[in-house]
Amino acid sequence: MGKTIIISNRLPVQLQISNGTITAIPSVGGLATGMKSVHSGGDSLWIGWSGLTDEEIPDDIAPKIDSALAEHGSSKVNLTSAEVDGFYFGFSNRTIWPLFHYFLEYSEFELKSWEIYKAVNQKFADAILEKAGEDDTIWVHDYQLMLVPQMVRAKRPNISIGFFLHIPFPSFEIFRTLPWRKEVLEGLLGADLIGFHIYDYERHFLSSVRRLLRLEVSFNDIYRDNRIIKVDSFPMGIDYKKFSDAAKAHEQNTADQQSDLQQRLNNHKLSTPDAKLILSIDRLDYSKGIAKRLNAFEYFLNKYPQYKEKVRLIILAVPSRSNVPQYQLLKKEIDELVGRINGDFSTVSWTPIWYFYRSLPFHNLIDLYTSSDIAWLTPLRDGMNLVAKEYIATRTDKTGVLILSEMAGSANEMNESLLINPNNFEQIADALYQAINMPKEEQQERNSHLQKRLARYNVEQWANDFMSSLQAQKDRDAANVSKKLTEHRLNTIVEDFSKAKKRILFLDYDGTLAGFHVDPQKAGPDKELYQLLDALNNQENTELYLVSGRDKDTFTKWFLPKKYNMIVEHGVWISQNGEDFRMLENVKNDWMEKIRPVLESFVDRTPGSFIEEKNYSLAWHYRKTDPDFGNLRANELNTVLTSLIANDDLSVLNGNKVMEIKSSNVNKGRATVRVLGEGDYGFVFAIGDDWTDEFMFQELPESTISVKVGRQKTQAKFYVENTKMVRDLLKRFLV
Ligand code: UDP
Repeated sequence: MGKTIIISNRLPVQLQISNGTITAIPSVGGLATGMKSVHSGGDSLWIGWSGLTDEEIPDDIAPKIDSALAEHGSSKVNLTSAEVDGFYFGFSNRTIWPLFHYFLEYSEFELKSWEIYKAVNQKFADAILEKAGEDDTIWVHDYQLMLVPQMVRAKRPNISIGFFLHIPFPSFEIFRTLPWRKEVLEGLLGADLIGFHIYDYERHFLSSVRRLLRLEVSFNDIYRDNRIIKVDSFPMGIDYKKFSDAAKAHEQNTADQQSDLQQRLNNHKLSTPDAKLILSIDRLDYSKGIAKRLNAFEYFLNKYPQYKEKVRLIILAVPSRSNVPQYQLLKKEIDELVGRINGDFSTVSWTPIWYFYRSLPFHNLIDLYTSSDIAWLTPLRDGMNLVAKEYIATRTDKTGVLILSEMAGSANEMNESLLINPNNFEQIADALYQAINMPKEEQQERNSHLQKRLARYNVEQWANDFMSSLQAQKDRDAANVSKKLTEHRLNTIVEDFSKAKKRILFLDYDGTLAGFHVDPQKAGPDKELYQLLDALNNQENTELYLVSGRDKDTFTKWFLPKKYNMIVEHGVWISQNGEDFRMLENVKNDWMEKIRPVLESFVDRTPGSFIEEKNYSLAWHYRKTDPDFGNLRANELNTVLTSLIANDDLSVLNGNKVMEIKSSNVNKGRATVRVLGEGDYGFVFAIGDDWTDEFMFQELPESTISVKVGRQKTQAKFYVENTKMVRDLLKRFLV
């Protein structure tokens, strides 16, 4: 068993330097807690930035830092202040953060900060490479390190890498605006498992991968070169027990154990027993919608004036990234709004908004959570929002109402809360009204569902789930390796080939001997392929058959002069020893008149698609269409055709970006089996890449050496990765 290496921008420890001594204090944040089960004992390491730039670390202290960090299973990546500026405050927080939260207008596309982002990602990757062994498992966290997976993969092709994105992944329409969009996707695809909080982010990511990289995606698997990358959603939970235990302990506090804040909250309750406390807690970030929330509060007070002096809004805004200009402007805007609303509405005995701009210690957070009747969280966009979950966890008597923005990832799991659109003031005002008037029983009913779920899927469960999914991915790879045509297996096959008195080779053409081309007519054989096929064809006691769905005219032009044996149009026609094609199956084509207009209407409505007309079949190609749209239309066509051909003896073949309609009694399996019956072969070999080749793999005798090109599901015994490897394999049959 290898070790686990966790990588995040910041280490889960805080360094403090005083009088030449250094202290490392473990952080208590959600991620650090969640990773406890993953990051424990001597077999794990956490790599990250310490929070101090090179300039801030005195020379004599540097070695002490390493040993202080090592005590916490941590190791630091050194960053200069220029690197922190370009990488963290620059590309991460001025490009990716706004873009991924749909604040396109705030996204800065600066080449220089992108260059620094790349260089710093390489630093993190190098730090991993220095410590990682082949058997280790690497877990990379978040948007600051999106290039790290591929940088590690490049040097360690077989190591297991997981990546988790803690923020939203935006829709393709937003993501495509990033000048370095392909590099970012390529960077992420170095991982074996890519995790998101919710399915929406996963689906946006897959859509970008399909559209920008044009990779094959099947459900949540991405096929890339010789690897399958899994994408999945893992909604991050909280340390439920910590919050609920703290709330229980808080209840037991005697008056003199209570904090100043708690006493103030108590006074408020005493002076106005029927007034409600509404709580809002966020980092001061434009994605959190704090200014909009203040405006909505004003709207509420105007719409329902009976609640003046009956509600109080507590806003806790935690300082964040205060050296990024947008954040400074936002701070100013919020300060002014709070001032204006308080100025407009306050009475001698009532200030509507209590505003705290600071970070509060944990016990004060518990004071706020437990004392507030309503938690009001309305981010415009939020990857998850843990505050919502923490509020619910502290409600020991199950009372309290959560009003939550549907734009927060956590809204997906928190259906029992009052979900609102943060831009709809009318709806927000009504939700506040509903929350204020919600009967206690209803509050408890809603919260008991929420609490059960949060207690079960806590942050530890989240981390374990991710790790087991990564392990399963590793196991799946290992299982697949057993089908890979390894050198050892290849030697045995070549030996069997040499020993056999008579051999036959069935070779598919497109995607097997030659790669795909957007224009099929341009995917003709190259010189090297002719040479290879000539050599195989001249081999004693060896019969070569090209088995293709192509039309006979194209193959006549390309291969008849070479006298290769050929089976085309999936088995309608055969040519042996350079003779003209003859029909292998008696098939009709009078059905084409009925089907052609249907395909034509699909071509008209699907830009980039076209019809290929063969003698006995019609094919609708959609390789050049928008990938999602093409798949959608293919499904639609399938449904239309299925009902249309129900009474004819026809079938629809779903190939690689092509749908072909042809006679049911024609397929590559049937054709090759017929040819096989003509002789006594001691060695039978079949190779192909798509669904139409599966008929060969299925119907040829059990002893056949069947090989699939690519790693998709197959009935073949072995697989090779690409057309280059097909050629290398065939060369081995030359003696
Ligand atoms: N929090 C804190 N100190 C504070 C206020 C909040 O440590 O003064 C914590 C809070 O308990 C929560 C986190 O900050 O765990 C905020 O997480 P969330 O997912 O809601 O938002 P993010 O800041 O990650 O965007």
